[in-house]
Amino acid sequence: MSLDQLFATRMGRMKASEIRELLKLLDQPDVISFAGGIPDPALFPAAAFRDAMVRALGDVQAGVSLQYSTSEGYPPLRRWIADHMRGLGVECGEDNILITSGSQQALDYLGKLFLSPGDTALVGWPTYLGALGAFNAYEPVYDRLDPKSNRAPSDFRAQAETRGGRVKFAYLSPDFANPTGVTLTREERESVLRLADDLDCAVIEDAAYQSLRYDGEPVAPILALELQRRGDIDACRTVYCGSFSKTLSPGLRIGWVCAAKTLINRMVLLKQAGDLHTPTLNQIVVADVVADGFEDHVETLRAHYRVKRDRMLAALERHMPAGVEWTRPEGGMFVWMTLPEGLDGAALLAEALRSERVAFVPGAAFHADGSGRNTLRLNFSSPGPDEIEEGITRLGQVLRASMAV
Ligand code: PMP
Repeated sequence: MSLDQLFATRMGRMKASEIRELLKLLDQPDVISFAGGIPDPALFPAAAFRDAMVRALGDVQAGVSLQYSTSEGYPPLRRWIADHMRGLGVECGEDNILITSGSQQALDYLGKLFLSPGDTALVGWPTYLGALGAFNAYEPVYDRLDPKSNRAPSDFRAQAETRGGRVKFAYLSPDFANPTGVTLTREERESVLRLADDLDCAVIEDAAYQSLRYDGEPVAPILALELQRRGDIDACRTVYCGSFSKTLSPGLRIGWVCAAKTLINRMVLLKQAGDLHTPTLNQIVVADVVADGFEDHVETLRAHYRVKRDRMLAALERHMPAGVEWTRPEGGMFVWMTLPEGLDGAALLAEALRSERVAFVPGAAFHADGSGRNTLRLNFSSPGPDEIEEGITRLGQVLRASMAV
């Protein structure tokens, strides 16, 4: 008996990746893994959450924190986020904020909101794998967003029309992107906005790593740049997706959307239909913890991750053979590596696991067009500094052996 023939066509686009199968091997204790994308659990503010939980479950508060709540989100948390957004140059009110169950849910709802089958989504080559996963369910086609290219808007439009739809949005992560670690300049952000204006499409600004800057000057969010031009967030086409996953806890699943009220109102309908609301208790404890020293906590994170990033970059300088290139991120969790043409990241992973017990994510999966076989992603937030040194030494050995063949 099989129900397979009953599945909706959209399921055809939702496949488990071979990489995930390989990465199951990572639980083995002797493997040094750069394959994760998760925060260092030693840095979770566990004591602050413990205290906040006790308060939230006290006699009076428990009646609220264990109850259903509004789809828009817990008002004190929305207010704190609106204030945080104003600190980033985004003049907005509580009505411009929707709390989501992680920013991943925001990506899913934005796919649902904008994409009919055959519509075009502009994404980077490479881009965040989870965004492709979220959008795929709505059966879009992808075209390449490259802020460095001068490709004419008419060309994007023509491409989208031949595929049977139109360009609905440009999705990008302008700060310390997953997987590349790259940050867009102000000019590049402006050029994405100009393209979106020309195409009359939305911009989805994924700011999951925005707070994790270790050096260099912050660049204004795309939403802030657009707001400078239009003067009113309710007239903006940019949808900003924020998250507490990388700063406080991914397990609590708290993210947010900041955008024009008309868009927020539509997203609230999706939220009502999807999961009613994000868990009340989780929103209450996050509101409590951020009210008391969010910046100090993030400063501690930055200090720790900066050390790890520096350790990885220094080890790469020492151990990588000539011909291998990598990014030098100013923040976030990832370094992106490009191998000489002809080398294959997936084959290298199999070899690296077998011979040196070291892992990473091959880059092809991050490319909507299947290119990028000679790329790979390295994570520096999870392993300890000494593991980073040892792991990069091992990776250098695997690469040297592969390049000698
Ligand atoms: N966007 C990017 C770029 C990410 O890397 C991630 C997490 N890996 C997410 C969104 C989703 O994060 P969350 O749902 O935990 O907020």
